Amino acid sequence: MNGCPLCGREMPFKSRHHLVPATEGGKEAIGLHRICHDFIHATFHENELRDTYNTIEALLREERVQKFVKWVRKKPVDFYTPTKMSNTRWR
Ligand SMILES: [Zn+2]
Ligand SMILES: [Zn+2]
Repeated sequence: MNGCPLCGREMPFKSRHHLVPATEGGKEAIGLHRICHDFIHATFHENELRDTYNTIEALLREERVQKFVKWVRKKPVDFYTPTKMSNTRWR
């Protein structure tokens, strides 16, 4: 399975995300689209990622993630917006 674990789309380029932040001693990294990765960090603080959203299942249960996934699935797989994404864009 080569798809992005967050949005499920094909992933020509991937960006590595540590489920537990590397600064908190996390070693397990997963591949994500760059935009999916940026979304995670724009939405959750490091301590939330460490304590609550440290599995892909926990992330996918979150309503903000579900809204983002719905939005990003309509975009081309190489879509990326380099501007700092606002949290309101996909609501
Ligand atoms: Zn993705
Ligand atoms: Zn990350």
